[in-house]
Order: sequence, then structure tokens, then C-alpha cells
Amino acid sequence: MPFTAKVITADEWDAKPPVPGTFPFPVTSPRYIIVHHTDNKNPPNDPSQSTLDGAKQFARNIQHGHFRRGWSDSGHNFLNTTGGFILEGRHGSLNAVEQGLCIRSAHAAQDDGKLAGGNDSPGIENEGNFMTFQMEQNQWDSLVELCASLCSSCQISPVNIKGHRDFSDTDCPGDWLYNQLPQLRKEVTDKLGMNLSPDELSNDRPIRSLKLGSTGEDVLQLQKALIARGFKPGAADGLFGENTRAAVIAFQRSLGFEMVDGIVGPQTRAALRL
Ligand SMILES: [Zn+2]
Repeated sequence: MPFTAKVITADEWDAKPPVPGTFPFPVTSPRYIIVHHTDNKNPPNDPSQSTLDGAKQFARNIQHGHFRRGWSDSGHNFLNTTGGFILEGRHGSLNAVEQGLCIRSAHAAQDDGKLAGGNDSPGIENEGNFMTFQMEQNQWDSLVELCASLCSSCQISPVNIKGHRDFSDTDCPGDWLYNQLPQLRKEVTDKLGMNLSPDELSNDRPIRSLKLGSTGEDVLQLQKALIARGFKPGAADGLFGENTRAAVIAFQRSLGFEMVDGIVGPQTRAALRL
């Protein structure tokens, strides 16, 4: 599927240029899509008032606020407003994702025990506060469209659509929206014509084998379990690299497994109580 989401570029909403000397921003290879909420009032008191002009003004206000935090530019890559308008955040984000890449941003710094790689992946701010408020249909539809376009162009699995709270100590994107992520993954999967099992879509009951190159919450749990048993998988960051593979091999060897392959299948998983 081509990148079909209609995005209003930073130039089109009259963004201010990034802080001199910071642009162009580093280009990354994204692994995830990170869903946020702006923590603003919901309709009928929403900042953008669901209009196009309101959406552009809201984007300018957010950028202004991010400059005041000392950031180089808007911290997110995309903004999805209550009117279903999608606006580019950090300069260069649209061009990068259309090429399967991303622009390093500032929306999801890694806190202890959380996933790494948030700022190297596209972050979507959704206008509103979704602790209990349920997103209206047109905003939801544009979120699905944007996620499907990003999954397609950047070759990100819908399983890796995550919430900000997976990376940082925050309640963002709100309890309601976070709990909707399995539904979001399902609708994106359907739009892309893919087939993922309910377990894969819920992404909280890991059943897959973990091996070199695997990423995600279940890899993070694996690394923590290895560390707790005195093995050294490197940083607990949710990325299954060479150090994690070596630690799995050492663990398998310590238990005298016949199959010492560095792959976490049912036997290794059970031994680690994962
Ligand atoms: Zn957030």
C-alpha cells in the first residue's frame, strides 16, 4: 500500500524554522509507531475546534510550546486533530517516512525499564485527553489511515504500534486510547490486507519465539529475566541483539539443554518463567 494519508506539511501550516544549527535532523530507521495524546480539552472545547484553520493554529501553538521547553522544533512527527486533519510535526518528517525512514525527534525518551528507540520512530500526537474520553470516529479514521501508511512505507509491523507509556514514565496516551491499541493494530492490519493472530495483535501475551533481531515488550521481559538470573544480555531495552543472544546461549548451556541455539522457544521460555 502506498503512503495514502494526506499530511499538511510544516510549511503549509506556517511552522517556524527549527533552531539554527539543528537542521537537518538525523535520519533514522524506525521500528515502532508511538501513539500519544496532547492532554488538551476534548470537544466541544478542543483547541482546534475541528477546523482546518484551527488545526494549523494548534500546530503552531504546540511548536511554540516545544521551543519554550528548549527543543529544536516540534517534538512529535505528526499531529492528528479532532477534525481528522494530519499535520507534520518536526520538519522533514513527511519526506523521511515516504522514503521508509524517520526523523529523530523528542516525543518518547526512554525511562528505566522501558522500551528504547521511541525518538527514532514516528510519534503521533492525537489532540485530546483519552484517559476516559473516547476518540470520535473521524479522528480515529485518520489515525488508522496514518498508521497504515507508516506501516506500509516504513515496513513496520502493526504489532509494533505502541503507546508513549511503553517508552516513558507517563500515562500518555491515556487509559482509553492505550487500551484501544489492539483494535488499532487490527484495523491497520485489515487495511494492509495482512493476517495477524489475536495474540499477536494484543501484544501482551507473548507466544512467538524470540531471536536475534526480535524487538518489543516480550524481549524486554526476557532481558529482565536473564539479568535477574545473573546473565548479561546488555541493556534491558527490548532489542534482541548479539549480547542478548549470547546470554540466552549461556542460560541454555547452564541448564544442560540439548538445543543450545540462542533462540527463546517454549522450553527456554518455560525455564525463564516467561
Ligand atoms: Zn506522549
